[in-house]
Amino acid sequence: MASTVYVSTWPTDPRAFESLFEATPSAIFALDRAGRVVAANAAASQLTGYSREELLALDISQLAQDSIQFVSDALAAAERREASVAEMDLLRQDGSAVPVQVTTIPILDGKHSGYVFFRVEEAHYLTEMRRTRAHMRTLAYYDSLTGLPNRIFFQERLRDSLEHATGQVPCVALMFLDVDRFKDINDTLGHALGDRFLQLVGERLVLLVKNRGIVARLGGDEFVVLVSRCSGGEEVRELAEELLASAEQSYRIEGYEQFITTSIGIALYPDHGRTDQALIKNADIAMYHAKEQGRNAYFFYDESLDAPIRSRLAQEQQLRGALKREEFVLQYQPIFQVSDGNPVVAIEALIRWNHPTLGMLPPDAFIPAAEASGLIVPMGEWVERTAAACMREWQERFGFMVLAINISARQFHQRDLCERLVSIVTEAGLTPQAIEVEITESMALFDAEYAVETIHALKRIGTQIAIDDFGTGHSSLNYLRRFNADHIKIDRSFVAGIGGAVTDDTIVTAIVAMGHSLGLKIIAEGVETGEQYDFLRAQGCDLVQGNLFAPPVDPQQLEILLAGKR
Ligand code: C2E
Ligand code: CA
Ligand code: CA
Repeated sequence: MASTVYVSTWPTDPRAFESLFEATPSAIFALDRAGRVVAANAAASQLTGYSREELLALDISQLAQDSIQFVSDALAAAERREASVAEMDLLRQDGSAVPVQVTTIPILDGKHSGYVFFRVEEAHYLTEMRRTRAHMRTLAYYDSLTGLPNRIFFQERLRDSLEHATGQVPCVALMFLDVDRFKDINDTLGHALGDRFLQLVGERLVLLVKNRGIVARLGGDEFVVLVSRCSGGEEVRELAEELLASAEQSYRIEGYEQFITTSIGIALYPDHGRTDQALIKNADIAMYHAKEQGRNAYFFYDESLDAPIRSRLAQEQQLRGALKREEFVLQYQPIFQVSDGNPVVAIEALIRWNHPTLGMLPPDAFIPAAEASGLIVPMGEWVERTAAACMREWQERFGFMVLAINISARQFHQRDLCERLVSIVTEAGLTPQAIEVEITESMALFDAEYAVETIHALKRIGTQIAIDDFGTGHSSLNYLRRFNADHIKIDRSFVAGIGGAVTDDTIVTAIVAMGHSLGLKIIAEGVETGEQYDFLRAQGCDLVQGNLFAPPVDPQQLEILLAGKR
């Protein structure tokens, strides 16, 4: 802002300079050598919130908050007759601080030398920058969904607590909390309500923990409670029990009543680790253990928990490597119609691991680990893609046959199961009608309502459905009807019992009759003897599979078999 001063000659009257001093929009303080305020203008009073009288009683360093060094430096420079410019925080009368830019001007006039002017201007750009910085800090340290401190904040606090943990603080406790089966909740509620649910969980935790510790969200459905000053294991045990009990109270989400449980893993400093990394890892291990022990439980870390986790991690790494090195192979086992000539109507793909040192491993040796680690999903995709490509070729050479694919529980619960199948199958040049998805009976019954819906979705895209390992679960007729599957595969343990225990014969007979009454076709798997086949045929079983006809074989051998059939 330009100000205009009208003079005809250079004013000699000091009052002219006084009015200039007084009316300048910048805050100006005149200071003596010691930094005492000897004069201040109206803007100075306005900026600081002090009256003129109050200002005159002040030492400039009282306005300088943390920048006393800065003031004495500026005064020393003035003493050397140097001007200086710098930024500092000005402390106002109301206690607030405002960033300012200060120009120190030494007075060189003989009579007044030894005094300096402090010209102080509010540094708006600094205020703005600080506001942004504060906001960025909030973004970096808080979780946007729940408003809770995030992982970064938590880790810094943990490191702080450990630095300050001395003799007076007996221990620091870390409690990892994970909502059991959150994935299922998310799948049933949908994403938006799933998010709302996590907010409710966070709020309830904060209300319960109060000032006993800090609640942070580490991501997903993982929360942590950090107790920086805790008296020992007993206090933590009580808190863990309260946490478990409180989580079990129902959550109301837009009219739904949701029940959950949580699993908690606990690590204490210094017993279970001395560094933040060790404590975090060990609380995590303890949490895994709580899950493995059937959930809804808390566990303190213990060295004995390490071994199984390590081996599982090792196994997971091996599987990951095997997938990358393409060590998995598929064998194929045909499914035959029970009629003269036993034509091949379908082919089941069965995975094996061609292990570099252990040789050919059956699926039971690695599917559980793949399932637990989630690796089953990319593995399953590989199976589907590979088998679909082969089937495409076989259909061209040998006519239409269905490809039967086994899917695991984790795959069955994939949100995009149908879309993915359709895209893989069409990419290979097949239609979904050429696919049969095999779901085990126990998987279907685990959450039967979900299974009904998912099976219907699969049927809508055109695939067929077989209920595998049938007879080992406790299917209700009601669900079996509602699943609306195409086939049931009698579990091979019953087939093996044919001709032996009377009960197995009766069970097989009953399954065939019941399946037919519901409009399902029956596949008998594991058929090894002519006697078994004759019995099955007499009962009206529709399809058979087993070593009597063909064991699972490599693609080349299968092609020989199919060529011979024609
Ligand atoms: P399943 O689906 O019940 O597969 C039938 C099993 O019976 C296969 O075992 C097969 O080799 C075996 N089998 C076939 N004919 C006979 C016979 O005459 N006698 C006897 N005793 N056994 C016979 P396999 O290949 O060891 O597979 C075991 C299980 O692993 C499968 O049971 C299936 O649940 C699972 N599995 C196999 N491949 C995959 C896959 O690609 N993905 C998933 N998720 N699971 C798979
Ligand atoms: Ca199967
Ligand atoms: Ca089976």
